[in-house]
Amino acid sequence: MPCDLMLFEHTGPCDNPRHREALKRRAAGAPKWHPIERQEEYSGFRDYLNGHDNSGVAVPIHCGEQIELQAVEYRSDDFGEYTLFLDKGIRVRYEADLSSADGGIWLYAYIDGHEFRARHEAWMRFRWPQ
Ligand SMILES: [Zn+2]
Repeated sequence: MPCDLMLFEHTGPCDNPRHREALKRRAAGAPKWHPIERQEEYSGFRDYLNGHDNSGVAVPIHCGEQIELQAVEYRSDDFGEYTLFLDKGIRVRYEADLSSADGGIWLYAYIDGHEFRARHEAWMRFRWPQ
């Protein structure tokens, strides 16, 4: 098994102190929120997000609804780049093409009077507005 840093310079449990320090830095982010999960139903496809109370029960998302996109920060160290998930997010409007299993999801945000649009990517994490 390679080092948890995904370096292949040694095998077995990592006992390199510099690696252990880097792993600790990378684990310091907030817990990840939830992915959007697409399910096929008799009437077509629908996207789901973990419930408002984080109970694990999935709630359908409807086009036009507001959800919170978890903020991230990009950092780098001697071993490469990594992403830290933060304990905050921004509200985005969810719109989706539900005609196929891989139809796109678009996220819209209004910031200071301007509308921004981002394509949803699988690594993004969300929750219902708190
Ligand atoms: Zn290591």
